Amino acid sequence: MNDSVDTLFFDLDRTLWDFEKNSAQTLNELYHEFDLKGHGCATFERFIEVYQLENKKCWDAYLAGRLTQAVLRPARYTNTLRVLGIENEQLGAALGEQYVQRSPRQKHLLPGALDVLADLKGRGHRIIILTNGFDEVQRIKVNNSGIAPFVDRVLTSDELGFKKPDARCFAAAFEIVECAPNNTWMIGDDFQADIMGAAAVGMRQVYFDRYGDWDEQRAATGCEPTVTIASLSELKTCF
Ligand SMILES: [Mg+2]
Repeated sequence: MNDSVDTLFFDLDRTLWDFEKNSAQTLNELYHEFDLKGHGCATFERFIEVYQLENKKCWDAYLAGRLTQAVLRPARYTNTLRVLGIENEQLGAALGEQYVQRSPRQKHLLPGALDVLADLKGRGHRIIILTNGFDEVQRIKVNNSGIAPFVDRVLTSDELGFKKPDARCFAAAFEIVECAPNNTWMIGDDFQADIMGAAAVGMRQVYFDRYGDWDEQRAATGCEPTVTIASLSELKTCF
């Protein structure tokens, strides 16, 4: 490998794969197919508004170790329905199951994702997806969204046994794809997991500042990303 060719580690959710859009599309399908209007939820907007709040509460409980994944999946829907005045655990469980089945199969990518991956791959860079998530779910996203032809390898925290920003996650990834931190970049939207994690192990980093909080993050952490971008197309001139 010559010096001008890098190994590029990309985060998946919210960096390439448009998590919010794909989630909203899945919820919209469920709202109509399960006739939630008929059950008493007057609008889709109300459904998604309550779901986002209840989903966050469940995730916070899950991350704090108070909920298991198996409980989280139906609970976020059962709780949403309850707030909407609908007591129906069976419906909540069915929505939870269908969401997990369908959401990873949605195909929306962030603007420019395909174009920029094709460009970087065409210039000989090695493209690795390094994502915190379940192996089966993340692979479905890569395969269904059209980015698979440009990706040399998908590595999930599930497979590696550690999550970003844990240095052991990056070390395990380097071992599998046979590279050292020099000539590698981590590209991601999560300042803690992607940027600080990669900086700590000596990788260069591109912060995808989708939320306009670069200054705030930098001031709070003292960590200065190697490069900050506001849109994926800027990656074409980074490497
Ligand atoms: Mg992300």
